[in-house]
Amino acid sequence: MPKTVTDSQTVRVTILGTGTSTGVPVLTCDCEVCTSSNPKDRRLRCSCFVSVGDVNLLIDAGPDFRQQAMRAEIKQVDAVLITHHHFDHVVGLDDLRPFLFDKRTKIPCFTVGTSAAALRNMFGYIFRDGSYPGVPRLELHEVEGPFVVSNRSGNGQSVEVTPIPAVHGSLHVLGFRIGRFAYMTDVSDIPYASMGLLEDLDVLVLDALRDRPHPMHMTIEQSITLAKSIGARKTYFTHMSHEILHTELEARLPQGMAPAFDGLQFEAGL
Ligand SMILES: [Zn+2]
Ligand SMILES: [Zn+2]
Repeated sequence: MPKTVTDSQTVRVTILGTGTSTGVPVLTCDCEVCTSSNPKDRRLRCSCFVSVGDVNLLIDAGPDFRQQAMRAEIKQVDAVLITHHHFDHVVGLDDLRPFLFDKRTKIPCFTVGTSAAALRNMFGYIFRDGSYPGVPRLELHEVEGPFVVSNRSGNGQSVEVTPIPAVHGSLHVLGFRIGRFAYMTDVSDIPYASMGLLEDLDVLVLDALRDRPHPMHMTIEQSITLAKSIGARKTYFTHMSHEILHTELEARLPQGMAPAFDGLQFEAGL
């Protein structure tokens, strides 16, 4: 009988990347942010690692996944939660192969239906064919409601994850909630029906691209407004462009809100 992790355990989070699709610095750019000496202005592509007991969840695997996993000393991945199929969030999936060398079970990947269909096209050799001997043994699951992730070495631990439907321009994407932590990158709006899933959060990570409007992302002002209505005890902003200087944004955000940065760690209640 698998046991679910107890209430006394916490959700431990490491932010692996906080940059928009180009990363920051942007190649060829010599603006103030791209040439900043503050390490918090260096942003790899957005990703996040979440541990509850011995269950380890990776949220997105973009082009920087390999160096992020080295930096954070990630030793095990029990599932990948995929917010959506944009290049900057999935192109590192093949780099999960070393986590499968142990010949335990496949790594399940959970995402929304439209992104699952796109991933089958983008990674046909993984998700459609699968016959090549070196293929990463990843298994795609389309999710609409809460699901359970178990530790792959079979120690019986598991954790419940709640997908949070959101919109990213015209695309349907997912955020994810684990305990009292929620991660909502690449969103331009969160529909009313999803707001009820974001109550009583200790920590929220939320999309905030820049001050200028963008069709697929929120501005700083839009993110502040949304963060206030969600009302998490602490909100960190992510997916930031090179138009955001860390210290400048930090200084003007309301209490309880801050820009995230690569390597940021925190805990939330389960
Ligand atoms: Zn993105
Ligand atoms: Zn995106």
